[in-house]
Parts: sequence; structure tokens; C-alpha cells
Amino acid sequence: MRSNSFRIAVMPGEGVGIEVMGAALAVLDAVEARFGVGCARDTVMGGAHYYRETGSILPPDGMDRARRADAILFGAMGWPDIRYPDGTEIAPQLDMRFELELFAGVRPIRAIPGVPPVLADPRAGKIDLVIVRESTEGMFASRGKGEIIDDTEASDTQVITRATTEKLAHFSFELARRRKRERGTPGVVTLVDKANVFRSFAFMRKVFYEVAARNPDVEAGHHYVDAMALDLVRRPWDFDVLPMENLFGDILSDLGAGLIGGMGFAPSADIGLEHGLFQPSHGTAPDIAGKGLANPTGMILSAAMMLDWLGERHGSDSARLAARAIERSVDKAFGDGLVRSCDIGGKDGTEAIGRAVADAIRNGEADSD
Ligand code: ATP
Repeated sequence: MRSNSFRIAVMPGEGVGIEVMGAALAVLDAVEARFGVGCARDTVMGGAHYYRETGSILPPDGMDRARRADAILFGAMGWPDIRYPDGTEIAPQLDMRFELELFAGVRPIRAIPGVPPVLADPRAGKIDLVIVRESTEGMFASRGKGEIIDDTEASDTQVITRATTEKLAHFSFELARRRKRERGTPGVVTLVDKANVFRSFAFMRKVFYEVAARNPDVEAGHHYVDAMALDLVRRPWDFDVLPMENLFGDILSDLGAGLIGGMGFAPSADIGLEHGLFQPSHGTAPDIAGKGLANPTGMILSAAMMLDWLGERHGSDSARLAARAIERSVDKAFGDGLVRSCDIGGKDGTEAIGRAVADAIRNGEADSD
């Protein structure tokens, strides 16, 4: 069904999650005014503070409301000193990945014009890769199930299944194909693993190449995770689409965010066959929360990913155009020096950046050529 109006579950969470969500919603208002793409919002609270007050991490109908929405826009949840009785972190976003089977954690690492490059090499301005973090199994399958055998030993077990690896590989090949068509990227999928040491990774690689054989138009390769950590610092501009196991993706996507200016610039999408959740890569950032200083760019770009995904799913060219316009407006705001966020030494806070991007959209400054 073609549609330009969507129902989204808005889950701001806590800490800077609430602040950056405000900026993203201002941008969505501008999108509605300029492109006629409307997002009716159902706000669902939740997180660690909510848990402290109510004993639950989400309202009783919270998961259902998220499930019923066309997409979920998520800020950040979790707080260092509010924990479950066993000492583990409150992380509803992890629960949602498992519950809604959001197997593909898509984390674009793209250099934004005007943001000072972290690497000295002039090619740093060309960084444009995507980490696809498997998000429902791997090492995280052991979450809450690990064993402390006695005071001398503990263990967690990694799980890799054929079904999820096939889905992850298919998703990655399709993503590389689409990026090549739309952005002129090289169309190369590189599996990141540790197949030289662990059987589970050897299995993952075997399944990956079975799927690669069915996608001969896209180049397939592999890289060991330790070498990838090195090469993401040495030559990140050489990579395109990087599927990997959950914990590897957790770690390398923070490294990737570091390459493009910090956590505030990194968007993400958690995609399943039925649902999509969109949130910045960062957490609640208690160290800067409540000051209005958080950089909302990752959150705003996550909203763009949401519109792009909705546009693809529902055949809405307007939603896809709006997504592109958000990305261009971000590039323009930073590239033309209209804003400089606090995390890169500037003075512009959350609201000012949201307003600059929203204004560029409203004025049509970033419409497609
Ligand atoms: P989580 O485990 O929940 O992902 P984390 O412990 O990795 O969270 P973050 O909350 O992401 O931590 O914060 C990591 C660092 O990045 C902190 O120094 C924080 O201030 C900074 N940071 C995070 N988000 C932003 C943002 N939007 N703007 C500026 N700095 C940020």
C-alpha cells in the first residue's frame, strides 16, 4: 500500500535520549511541512528511571504499541546506577531486538562535511561504510544465561544459527547492491569474523559464502576481526558493507563512530523482517545529560533512516526524498559552517542543531537536484 502517513512509536527514553529526540521530532515536523510525509506519534516512556519508579522497564502495553507501529523511533535508555537486583544493566533496546527479531543492526559510518576528520589522511573525508551488526544472537545470546560455576570460573556461550546468518547475509548483499545503485559505492560485502579460531565463526563464514554464491553481482570477502580493528583505523575508506557477529559489531561500531567525530554523529537502525527500530548509536550520556549540549545528528540521521525504510516498505517516494533531504540538510548545516556541535569544540547545543537542519528542510535548501 502506498502511503505518506505513518504511525510511529516514539520512545525517547532518558538522559540525552529525550533531548536528541526533541531535535529529531522538530526535523520530522519540517519534513511534514515540506514533503507532506506525516508521522503520527504514540509516545511510549520507559527505561531505567521508569523501572525505578514502577518496577517495570516499559508500560505493560509498551511492547505491543511498539509492535503495532509502522516504525519505532528510539532515543536512549539505561542509567549507570539504576540496575536490576543482579547488577546487570537495564537495556530495553536489547530486549526489543530479541523480542521483535531485529537481526540487522545497521550502523552507517559516513564522514559528514565540515566535521573535523579524526584521521589525518585526506581520504578520511571519503569514509562511507556500513557495519551490519547481527543483533539477536552471537555472544549476546548468552545475555542473562551465563554461568558463574564457582568463584574460580565463569562462562558465556556464543550462538550462531544458519537461519540468522542467511538473513544477515541476504540483507548485507541487498544493502550493498542498493548503495552501489544510489550512492556509487563499490558494492563489496566483507564478513568480519574469527573463523581461524572458532568453529562457530567457520560455520558463519561457510553459510555467508553460500549466500554470496546466490548474489554473484556483489563482491564478497572476509576479514578477521582483529585485522579489521587495525584496518578501520588505517584505511576505513576502503570498506563498504561489513556484516559481523553481535559483540564484534558492538565494539567496532563505537570505533567507527570515533572515526567520524564521535558518538553524536552515528545513526543506527535495527531491522527485522517485520519491524524497524531507529536510534542513535550512543547511549544516555549521563555525563552531559540535562545540559542541552548533546549532538542530535545521530538521532536526526536515524530519523532519516526510518523514513527511507518506510519509503521502501510502503512505496513512498516522498518519504525516500525526505530521508535524502534530511541527510543533505545535515551535510549543509555542518558543511557550510552554520553549526558546530559541542562535541567537536563548537558552541551549538541540541536545539540549535535541530533548528538549523529543520530550517534547511523547510526552505527547500536540501531538496534533491
Ligand atoms: P551505552 O552502553 O548505553 O551505549 P555508553 O556507555 O557506550 O552507552 P554513551 O552514553 O554512548 O555511553 O556515551 C559515551 C560517550 O559519548 C560519553 O562521553 C558521552 O558524553 C558521549 N556522547 C554520547 N552521546 C553523545 C551525543 N549525542 N553528543 C555528544 N556526546 C555524546
